[in-house]
Amino acid sequence: MTPNSDTVTRFAPSPTGNLHVGNIRTALHNWMYARKHGGRFLLRLDDTDQARSEEAFVTAIRHDLGWLGLTPDGEARQSERSHLYEAHFEALKQVGRVYRCYETPEELDLRRKVLLGRGLPPVYERGALALGEDDHAAHAAAGRAPHWRFKLDHDAPIAWDDLIRGSQHFDPQLLSDPVIRRADGSWLYMLPSAIDDIDMRVTHVVRGEDHVSNTAAQIQMFEALGAAPPAFAHEALLVGSEGKLSKRLGSLGADHFRELGIEPIALVALLARIGTSEPVLPVSDVAPLIESFDFANFGRAPARFDDDELKLLNQKIVHGLDYDAVAARLPVDIGAAGWEAIRPNLHTVHEAADIWSCVTGPIAAPPFDDDTRAYLATAAEQAASIDWAGDPWHALTGALKESTDRKGKMLFLPLRQALTGRDSGPDMAALLPLIGSARALERLRAAAQG
Ligand code: GLU
Repeated sequence: MTPNSDTVTRFAPSPTGNLHVGNIRTALHNWMYARKHGGRFLLRLDDTDQARSEEAFVTAIRHDLGWLGLTPDGEARQSERSHLYEAHFEALKQVGRVYRCYETPEELDLRRKVLLGRGLPPVYERGALALGEDDHAAHAAAGRAPHWRFKLDHDAPIAWDDLIRGSQHFDPQLLSDPVIRRADGSWLYMLPSAIDDIDMRVTHVVRGEDHVSNTAAQIQMFEALGAAPPAFAHEALLVGSEGKLSKRLGSLGADHFRELGIEPIALVALLARIGTSEPVLPVSDVAPLIESFDFANFGRAPARFDDDELKLLNQKIVHGLDYDAVAARLPVDIGAAGWEAIRPNLHTVHEAADIWSCVTGPIAAPPFDDDTRAYLATAAEQAASIDWAGDPWHALTGALKESTDRKGKMLFLPLRQALTGRDSGPDMAALLPLIGSARALERLRAAAQG
């Protein structure tokens, strides 16, 4: 870890819905970058849209970040910071960097269509800048409150060196002056975000590439507010396995992954590496992923999120999990030996309880034909005389190989069915000592009787 306590990243969701896999990925990268550089990772709730923000989503966002282990080093809510925005807004007003507008959404839409129809960029033409105090007074008298735009400096070309996209250039004349405040006085995201990034000393803004043109405008806001802009990393978006931006991904949240039995570390391991030049690995700890985290490894092409890849990765990770890491989620009597016996057969930790029930019972063996019942009767007799302290499975099957003419599947399958009630499952050599002699004899005898 490079100690650099100046590094500050922030994850800034609007609590108008649950986190989905795309914004979980953004949160993760912000967290990893801060951890790698010994800095701070902040959760900033962009809850200026009071009508759509809900407390339940705030709670769910905190819970999901906690589940993933992405614990913030600090939290702030934009709804509690309007005094700060107000003060900066006043200062920008004094220097003429914000201005009043009255166009309705319908008028703006129509204007955009006209410009597009003429093959021109659909940029706001600043009609409102021509209004005089009389015009404003007339609007006020008619009960029309203004909304506010930030006035871009058309003479200051915008450029930054994006940590993922490289050198970026924007001509401010091709950007619309962004609306920053609604007629009801509420804030849109752009200006408060820049004010907060300055106030919270955010050094790195890591977000999706859908924000690239916002960044161009925000860079001028940082400058108008008298601050140097932070560094930016705009990530290529996430697409589904079919390679398209998918609506489905937008609805896949942590709940969905929890229900599937996905371990948080599996989601972290996948989202840390897809879209980068580094391989996705079945790690059980995030430390090596943090160690190698570098925006230079991120590609410009969309990152593909594939559920099947996640499930497979989860399975591999589960196979490597230590008993101590999962004990709290297992049936109490399973123990380390039980976990190790069944672990290789699991897709998810959830499945452990069901598989473990073939050790503890009760089990339901299938009906056997007469010949197999006789074989199982022999097995029961021999099971009574083998050494249970050693390797009872090999002792029992070895004895049966000699005393019967069965071999292969004919030898093994009826024993597995009689002893576990299933046709397949964990290695019998690991399972039989856990079933133990008393239960094993009882099950073999019961199966022999049919
Ligand atoms: N609230 C914004 C969003 O969710 C934040 C974007 C940003 O990271 O600045 O899109």
